[in-house]
Amino acid sequence: MIPIMDSKRQYAKIGDKLEEAVVEVMRSGSYILGKNNKAFEEEMAAYCGTKYAVALNSGTDALHVALRALDIGKGDEVITTAFTFVATTEAIGIVGAKPVFAYIDKDTFNIDPEKIEALITPNTKAIIPVHLYGQPCEMDKIMDIAKRHNLHVIEDACQGIGSEYKGQKVGSFGTFGCFSFYPTKNLGTMGDGGMLVMNDEKLRDRVVALRNHGGAVRYYHDEIGVNSRLDEIQAAILRVKLPYVDEWNAARKANAEYYNELFADCDEVETPVELHDTKCIYHQYTVKVPNRDQVFDKMRENGVGVMLYYPVPLHMQKVHKYLNIPEMSLPNTVEDTKVVMSLPMFPEITKEEQETVAKTLKAIVRGEL
Ligand SMILES: *Cc1c(COP(=O)(O)O)cnc(C)c1O
Repeated sequence: MIPIMDSKRQYAKIGDKLEEAVVEVMRSGSYILGKNNKAFEEEMAAYCGTKYAVALNSGTDALHVALRALDIGKGDEVITTAFTFVATTEAIGIVGAKPVFAYIDKDTFNIDPEKIEALITPNTKAIIPVHLYGQPCEMDKIMDIAKRHNLHVIEDACQGIGSEYKGQKVGSFGTFGCFSFYPTKNLGTMGDGGMLVMNDEKLRDRVVALRNHGGAVRYYHDEIGVNSRLDEIQAAILRVKLPYVDEWNAARKANAEYYNELFADCDEVETPVELHDTKCIYHQYTVKVPNRDQVFDKMRENGVGVMLYYPVPLHMQKVHKYLNIPEMSLPNTVEDTKVVMSLPMFPEITKEEQETVAKTLKAIVRGEL
């Protein structure tokens, strides 16, 4: 099976450095909020082009702690997309606010900025755009709407580390940018991990307190917080990996271009669209195909580890049943959910593997397999 991604190949290249870093932490006796955490925060802020970064235990925590830090909760509405991983709206639910789903752009799969304003009510407090598959959202339009309506923007950049919109890194546009270091992300650790980046010092301090039981001073607690710290072992691993991210992202981009080339003679396979003046980092390489469910099964039968991100749009998930949203009120989302399929994509995938993936998919959509 050609895997959707393969962490072992990355480990084969930099395993020695990772092992050295982990052993150093184990020997140090300092396991939580130590020097690696602090250094990694500084390195991530520099990488993203923000003043501050605060490490947390997951991308999900980054999203919900961002909402907490902005005092968004009961009675508030947050505009986002239903074409994303559930963590985006789970975070909204955790703080007691209500997700409001906007249309997506059919080509980029991201929130359609033209469809946001009609959804704004006096209860709207924030917009959460999601840079899905590593494709940047149209941040100038989204920031413009937010400014005019006095809303916060919390970017879900969990799939977008290193991607850029008009020369600026995603995550650095909004009040907060949220990152995940789940093992399969473009910068993945060997467990869970997450990060918030921001430019506001007061918000930084609030997040620092919230992640550690709601107090800045040990054993003095000002509010209900959470236990959401990035441990030293994960921070040390991520510090070894961060300097490679641009190289890995460039390899993904080159692999995406090779796929584009391989599918150039096949109209049945719609390849990903890139917006003008963006840098896409191809967390996923997602195509649209006819008869997707059958094609998906056949791909797997023929040894290609394709995946569906995501099989059910969020407004149709049981967890959101209480919102009573009619399925076809989000037609683009529903239609795209039925045709998308993600192909194996990681920096180390070989040309031969990509050729096999493309040959198999072309044969299937042409009815030859
Ligand atoms: C991975 C992911 C998250 C959640 O990150 P975790 O670290 O797994 O909690 C949130 N949003 C999106 C779009 C993601 O892909």
